[in-house]
Amino acid sequence: MPQTDFLVIGSGIAGLTFALKVANRLPNSKITIITKADESESNTKYAQGGIAVAQKTRFDSPKHHIADTLKAGDGLCKKEIVEIVVKEGIPRLKEIIKWGARFDKKSSGQFDLGMEGGHSAKRILHHKDITGLELERKLLQQIHRKKNISILPYCYAIDLITEHHKKQKSSEEINCFGAYILNKSTNKIEKYLARITLLATGGAGQVYRNTTNPLIATGDGIAMACRAGAIISNMEFIQFHPSALYNPGESPSFLISEAVRGFGAYLLTKEKRRFMFDFDKRGELASRDIVARAIDYEMKKSGDECAYLDCRHLDVKEFKKHFPNIYNKCKTLGINIKNDLIPVVPAAHYLCGGIKTNSQGKTSINRLYACGECADTGLHGANRLASNSLLEALVFAHRCFLDAIKSYSKFKLETKIPEWNQKGTTRPKENILITHSRTELQIIMSDYVGLVRSNSRLRLAKKRIKMLEEETIHLYKRSILSPQLCELRNLITLGKIMIEHSIKRNENKGVFYKI
Ligand SMILES: Cc1cc2nc3c(=O)[nH]c(=O)nc-3n(C[C@H](O)[C@H](O)[C@H](O)COP(=O)(O)OP(=O)(O)OC[C@H]3O[C@@H](n4cnc5c(N)ncnc54)[C@H](O)[C@@H]3O)c2cc1C
Repeated sequence: MPQTDFLVIGSGIAGLTFALKVANRLPNSKITIITKADESESNTKYAQGGIAVAQKTRFDSPKHHIADTLKAGDGLCKKEIVEIVVKEGIPRLKEIIKWGARFDKKSSGQFDLGMEGGHSAKRILHHKDITGLELERKLLQQIHRKKNISILPYCYAIDLITEHHKKQKSSEEINCFGAYILNKSTNKIEKYLARITLLATGGAGQVYRNTTNPLIATGDGIAMACRAGAIISNMEFIQFHPSALYNPGESPSFLISEAVRGFGAYLLTKEKRRFMFDFDKRGELASRDIVARAIDYEMKKSGDECAYLDCRHLDVKEFKKHFPNIYNKCKTLGINIKNDLIPVVPAAHYLCGGIKTNSQGKTSINRLYACGECADTGLHGANRLASNSLLEALVFAHRCFLDAIKSYSKFKLETKIPEWNQKGTTRPKENILITHSRTELQIIMSDYVGLVRSNSRLRLAKKRIKMLEEETIHLYKRSILSPQLCELRNLITLGKIMIEHSIKRNENKGVFYKI
């Protein structure tokens, strides 16, 4: 029976950083990372813009970064968490640099800091426009060197193991004893017992039709935590990225980084009207919620399918140097940025809420931690400031690590857990129902629970999703499980929570806008 001291679910920046830290500090402990796809597949891998870290200089300071984060969060950030993340980001940055992560520098040797919407100073460290890939690669290189870490790709976590599964249910409190894992190569469901479990399962952009998130971003960790009885908070705050490349049929949507606007690109309507100053005095550098709603407004008013980014006035050589990935992507679609406009639309990008944690990353369930995009630490409030999420993942992976190593040895591996029971289930004859229901859910969420919401649309969405839920639960109970079916169940759970939280909120804040 698989047993481990630390079970880490997810191999993005949050999970890998936590695992690495534990492995370094406790060389005799056993750490198991399970991840549902290839080991590098994650939101992390696709992060472009970079990581926001404010050093104290003539032009910037942590104080300014704190103020910008609080402003973006629109009064709902936890101030003490914002201060922790901004201040502790500085030593965490030094650590990843020590682990080999490279950030672009100027000829003077200083970091070539980028500017992004909502920031009052240039403070974004980046590796060209593939910062996430650089971090993911360097973290994985370090992980592979550790003898006490096993990383198991193509293993899908279905559910957390808690008292609910125990043969003898003893306490009122909920404890996490590990997770049931579906190994995709053997098609067997195994129970992984652990002293400590960390959920680092990332975001949930796949709830929507247009999203910058890869296919793995189905909110599994949040749905699992919810089923286990954990507190889930702030799920009405979904950040839509203003500028995903408009290329119908491409999923996930390719992101045109915020940094392109920071570099000087303009936003235009089809008639080539620069419109952002009609909405905010910061123009194209207003925070994401404002830019996304402005584009949505202009698109709805004109009936156009997209807006446009204008880079024609920019230095192409410099653009290519800073954004080689974006430049090449445009080129493959026949868009020459010197002469052509880049078509863009808003797309679901980042989940501000999630599994509620305290300042050490502990969830409301004992022995269960959460960090990264699946967690709600209180940093983002009603809106995430650009490039604060990689930073948050690093800082909270460290905090979870510090807390978990203090207590792990006092927790015993629980032995009275039954094997997964598949009795009476059969393999579904066809999978079309799963694919169709996933698409239907995405359409309902995009049309009724998008950038601009109303209670009547939310109630309609709730009713439609209830039907999908009933069908899916029926299928779940009689089927041999597949990741696709589990993901559908999880996406429906998240959709429901997002709707419930949106109905409850009566004040427009940050990215949340209800008419
Ligand atoms: C296109 C794009 C650009 C971005 N740009 C930036 C940026 O410039 N700066 C910034 O700060 N942020 C950016 N973000 C956001 C940032 O990348 C993410 O918030 C961050 O990487 C999340 O890290 P994570 O470790 O929490 O989750 P992820 O990196 O998403 O990792 C989640 C992991 O969990 C695994 N997993 C999920 N469910 C299961 C399951 N059931 N069983 C097993 N494994 C599972 C996944 O396979 C994956 O390995 C961007 C996001 C996107 C999509």
